[in-house]
Amino acid sequence: MKKQVTVLGSTGSIGTQSLDVIRAQGYGVFGLAAHANAALLARQIEEFHPRAVCLVDETAADALAGMLQGMPDAPSLLRGKEGLTELAAMQGTDIVLNAVVGIAGLAATLAAIESGHDVALANKESLVTGGRLVTDAVQRHGVKLLPVDSEHSAIFQCLQDAYAAKSLQKILLTASGGPFFGKTRAELAMMTKADALRHPNWSMGQKITIDSATLMNKGLELIEAVWLFGLPAKQIQIVVQRQSVIHSMVQFTDNSVLAQLGVPDMRIPIQYALTWPQRVPGPAPELDFTTLRMLTFDTADEETFRCLAACKKAIQKGGLAPCAANGANEEAVRLFLEDKIPFLKIGELVEGAVESDSFGGAYTLRDVYACDAAARAYVLEHL
Ligand code: NDP
Ligand code: MG
Repeated sequence: MKKQVTVLGSTGSIGTQSLDVIRAQGYGVFGLAAHANAALLARQIEEFHPRAVCLVDETAADALAGMLQGMPDAPSLLRGKEGLTELAAMQGTDIVLNAVVGIAGLAATLAAIESGHDVALANKESLVTGGRLVTDAVQRHGVKLLPVDSEHSAIFQCLQDAYAAKSLQKILLTASGGPFFGKTRAELAMMTKADALRHPNWSMGQKITIDSATLMNKGLELIEAVWLFGLPAKQIQIVVQRQSVIHSMVQFTDNSVLAQLGVPDMRIPIQYALTWPQRVPGPAPELDFTTLRMLTFDTADEETFRCLAACKKAIQKGGLAPCAANGANEEAVRLFLEDKIPFLKIGELVEGAVESDSFGGAYTLRDVYACDAAARAYVLEHL
């Protein structure tokens, strides 16, 4: 039987690249979900013939229902947030790849795990907002949480040796530095949405592209790494690697360092999450060492890029502080993309939200959503 995959967020940057990998490997598609892009989802249904699909937006779901009429083997159509979790939980798939953007992906990650599915996780916000809930559920249900984020895939790849995890001492989490690396705060104050959306190495969705420009993405990834690999934040060092060729490194107790390299192409980590523990040929090209002239290394400037400092503070505070940082960031990025706030305001708002409470202690899913709402309200009150 060929492997069956459910792709949540199938119309996005990671979602469409996941379907490239699925096509190349000849896997089956059990389920597909998106927010509102009915036209692209309809084309994906025609190509992959899933059993069930979901559109979270009701109006878009109505439009898709019209497109599916008369289609032979039309999938069952779910809708709304409940439809997304229902699809994530449905039996019949071997793995759920979550490529939804933002905290909107958290409930689906939990639903998939609680139904006994392995999860290939691109949606880092699931671990940032509800890291304790997600990792506890993984333990309880004995499923695998496979990282799709390139840095975390790199670390995971470096830790495959049975002895590696036991002697892991430090994670060297690489960062491209984004489009504004080396700029001063005075220069950043002038940066526009168009400048921020121009990433040097990766073509990604709008939200993560802005997160790369503010270095919020690296802060989110630091928190993601704490949950995935169980090291405290102080044993995770950010290393700026401008070419995005080294995707991250691990250091062992004997100070030996292992790195994972490759072209900056997300189809490599996506494919590894789907084929693990096997490696098979795939659609990504090889790294060409005849043209790669140099690899450079720098440190990240946390004085200039406040989001990274705020995320470090949040994971040190613990509890729901990372959730507050994420909620404030999601709201601030939305406002920046609507030209309502300047670039530097994003960092100020994330920092302010992290400082606004102690956030300590255990939490439930309901607490996560309450904290997210409070962080968004904080942003709107401090414009
Ligand atoms: P995109 O914006 O390109 O795609 C997001 C996907 O999620 C789309 O399918 C979108 O549907 C869907 N979506 C948006 N909002 C909701 C919602 N409320 N409920 C359900 N589905 C929703 O994002 P990316 O693919 O860039 O990123 C996805 C995730 O992967 C993020 O967490 C990001 O941090 C992570 N990631 C991305 C990388 C990249 O290279 N792009 C690299 C590493 C991690 P619609 O099209 O209908 O709006
Ligand atoms: Mg990444």
